[in-house]
Amino acid sequence: MNFKKMALDIEDQIIKWRRDLHQIPETQLDLPKTNEYIRNELDKMGIEYKSGLAKSGIVATIWAGEGDSKTFAVRTDMDALDINEETGLDFASTHEGKMHACGHDSHMAMALGVAKLASENKDKLAGNVKIIFQPAEEGPGGAKPMIEEGALEDPAVDAIVGLHIGTIFKEVKPGQIGVSKGATMACLDSFQIEVEGKGGHGAMPNTTVDPVAVSSSIVQELQTLISREINPVRPGVISVCKIHGGSAYNVIPGKVNMEGTARFIHEEQRQQISKRMEEVVKKVADARRAKVKFDYHYGYPPVFNPEEFTDYFKGVAETVMDDENIIEIKEPVMGGEDMAYFLKEVPGTFFFLGGGKEIEGEVHSHHNSKFDVEESVFHLGTALMAKTAFDWLEKNK
Ligand SMILES: [Zn+2]
Ligand SMILES: [Zn+2]
Repeated sequence: MNFKKMALDIEDQIIKWRRDLHQIPETQLDLPKTNEYIRNELDKMGIEYKSGLAKSGIVATIWAGEGDSKTFAVRTDMDALDINEETGLDFASTHEGKMHACGHDSHMAMALGVAKLASENKDKLAGNVKIIFQPAEEGPGGAKPMIEEGALEDPAVDAIVGLHIGTIFKEVKPGQIGVSKGATMACLDSFQIEVEGKGGHGAMPNTTVDPVAVSSSIVQELQTLISREINPVRPGVISVCKIHGGSAYNVIPGKVNMEGTARFIHEEQRQQISKRMEEVVKKVADARRAKVKFDYHYGYPPVFNPEEFTDYFKGVAETVMDDENIIEIKEPVMGGEDMAYFLKEVPGTFFFLGGGKEIEGEVHSHHNSKFDVEESVFHLGTALMAKTAFDWLEKNK
């Protein structure tokens, strides 16, 4: 089977799906129109599905194997962002203040393309194909609740692929793919710190416990963890992004609140530094007579692509596209992705499809109000995921 040709034959349909979905962006877990649209398309193709996992998620299954056959899954995210679209496209968002500015509309369209190819060629499938439509990738996260609600069960998923379109890795140009082995994207953690001192007159600090001074020490000490305690070849970022305290130039406030994000590529450094953050914050506050509350929230884990499966995927890709268009990504990015949860459960890979498109002479970044994607690369995403599904099921039947 020539998957590239098969995907090109349905290219117009994939583009139509993307444009339709682009017009109805919805955010987080509540995606009623997107959910309804996907269900309608699955109904038209006669594909069975379960809806309502993580509120708006859908798990579609193309049953094709015998009782004990393996199941291969394709995962797509579904959600948009709170951004007012400024692309000027004729199929721009019809939902004011919401926009598919990360390309998840195209992910759904390419996944629907895989569903179509799989259901129309069921007789050639050696196992089941599952398409997981997942809400809330941009937050608060849909992968984890979907797994908890059984997305990887009945039938049990044995392997999974997912992709991200756009310009996340600058070296991956339109029409190329980026393949990354091992550590690929960072965890996405957050923290809150409340420093409680004793307020008073700005001219008499000796009668106060100044939470502003304590907070600035804490910020410095947190940065020192990154420079002095983390293995220097293993990246980590701590950014205090919010500091709130005080109401007047001559009043030492009673409290300061801080919030920030912490990113690590490796679980070991994540565990080490998050524990040290708590110790350092408490000890600095204690030494300076302040009280402190520290909350660390473990968000999405790092995206880790297992080597064996990723090599296998690369081999499949080499049969679909020219070698020079398959880029091996060497360095991870500090952005996060909740595809990580699926990859913690089953072998698979998360790859990157180059495809940023110019609007007004410039390729705008993800989450920009003028972000757009190159529709001519969609067939590649569909062909790669479909061929991997068919080949992997055949090889592992
Ligand atoms: Zn995004
Ligand atoms: Zn995204």
